[in-house]
Amino acid sequence: MADELLPNPSKRISIRNLNKFYKDFLALDRLNIDIERGEKIVILGPSGSGKSTFIRCFNRIEPHDSGVLMIDGKVIDDKTDLTALRGNVGMVFQNYNLFPHLSVLDNCTLAPRLVRKTPRADAEAAAHRYLTQVGIDEQAAKYPIQLSGGQQQRAAIARALCMNPEIILFDEPTAALDPEAIAGIVSIIQDLAAQEITTICVTHEMGFARRIADRIVFMDKGSILEIAPPEEFFTTPQTDRALAFLNQMI
Ligand code: ADP
Ligand code: MG
Repeated sequence: MADELLPNPSKRISIRNLNKFYKDFLALDRLNIDIERGEKIVILGPSGSGKSTFIRCFNRIEPHDSGVLMIDGKVIDDKTDLTALRGNVGMVFQNYNLFPHLSVLDNCTLAPRLVRKTPRADAEAAAHRYLTQVGIDEQAAKYPIQLSGGQQQRAAIARALCMNPEIILFDEPTAALDPEAIAGIVSIIQDLAAQEITTICVTHEMGFARRIADRIVFMDKGSILEIAPPEEFFTTPQTDRALAFLNQMI
């Protein structure tokens, strides 16, 4: 856990006493964590524990109510330029959320062209580079519906990469995929960390969590109960809640 009271501006992400309410329901309860550049964080926890709410605070899809969220030394609050923030903090969802009426290539170039004003040729060159990196450049002209689930998720990751984000949030990215497709996504996320991209990933795949995580964050009922390296978390969880969660996963 982050022990100091004040946020640490030298961290990629520094969070202190983060609270979030839905009306009078406390969804996030005094969360504290510091995250390093290039770190791979996996968030585990039962359904409804606040995992999605938490990661949606990072790009302010869900604004927090109190506490401090700092990214690269800048406080994220209601004065933050959301376009710039969301360019810097990419997001990949369980259901891919590709634009169905656009080709894979156009899905990838839309935000760079509209938001960053990147010329089309440059945006397309970059898109082909990232589509190659995720192994589906030959699908660039196709529409999302013409791709398999694994290919759509690769396209969604390439689309996120096209904005050159420093942080990518993944909300159950493998939930809809078969084991072979999961393995492909795992190796792509590992590559991202080598590029110094910080990844924060919610998943129910324990094998995936073990392979990918530098640290596991375990949440329950809106609180962070444990933060530990995977070998520690999976062998010697410190709380009864985490132990019960892990036992039920086997
Ligand atoms: P998880 O991703 O861990 O399953 P969520 O972050 O989606 O959990 O939800 C945490 C809690 O907040 C749940 O009790 C959920 O019902 C509630 N919640 C989530 N989104 C909303 C919302 N938009 N309005 C009201 N309650 C919500
Ligand atoms: Mg969720």
